Amino acid sequence: MLGHSHATSGALAWSAAAAALPLTLLTYPDMHVGDIAAVDLVMGTFLTAGAALLPDADHPKGTISHVLGPISHYACRFISRISGGHRQGTHSLLFVALVTYGTWAGEHWIGRNFTLALVFFLLALAVRALNLAPTGDSVKAWGTVVILAASGTFAIDHWISDKPAWLPFSVGLGALAHLIGDCLTERGCPLLWPLKTRTRFPIIDRTGNKMETLVLVPIFALATVALLWYTITHQP
Ligand SMILES: [Zn+2]
Repeated sequence: MLGHSHATSGALAWSAAAAALPLTLLTYPDMHVGDIAAVDLVMGTFLTAGAALLPDADHPKGTISHVLGPISHYACRFISRISGGHRQGTHSLLFVALVTYGTWAGEHWIGRNFTLALVFFLLALAVRALNLAPTGDSVKAWGTVVILAASGTFAIDHWISDKPAWLPFSVGLGALAHLIGDCLTERGCPLLWPLKTRTRFPIIDRTGNKMETLVLVPIFALATVALLWYTITHQP
């Protein structure tokens, strides 16, 4: 699947979860029963879209490798090496658990600086995947990503709490949405990694086909907006 398909499927997963799941699940692992305000739902949409790119951090030539210039490129090469190459360790349920728990731990042990750094990084991924910046690995390309993500982080800084209870769920859900998308392709994902069995239901015959760009992405985007609208207007 292409970056923008992953990003919009992440956004859709978040809005569907907000509409359908109980609040205690959305704030897992804290199970903190409070309110998720409308502004949290909107922030969560963009951040889950970015998180839906995380598993492809194992791909030094992928969409997100040059998101933050040479820094992210070398990080991707490193992750690719330790996870066993493309579509190995980072395309597993273990990875989903790791990023969910990692977000929770960072929020609790480091605090607001971690939260804002993560917000910046996830927004950068979303900007890249949604093609809001020029493509390629030039300074102009990743410089635009940095400027847009920094502006977004600055805006979110006014609204987000120090330890948003919904953020670990949002990050894990984004990664999970990515795995589901990749399972629909020929190559599938090793969900139970380090076991080698690959799960696949090949419906999408080739990544990057026009069907994704012209049909899937607009439908996902519209459904996301509709579900968010429904959830916000029907909140008790
Ligand atoms: Zn992938």
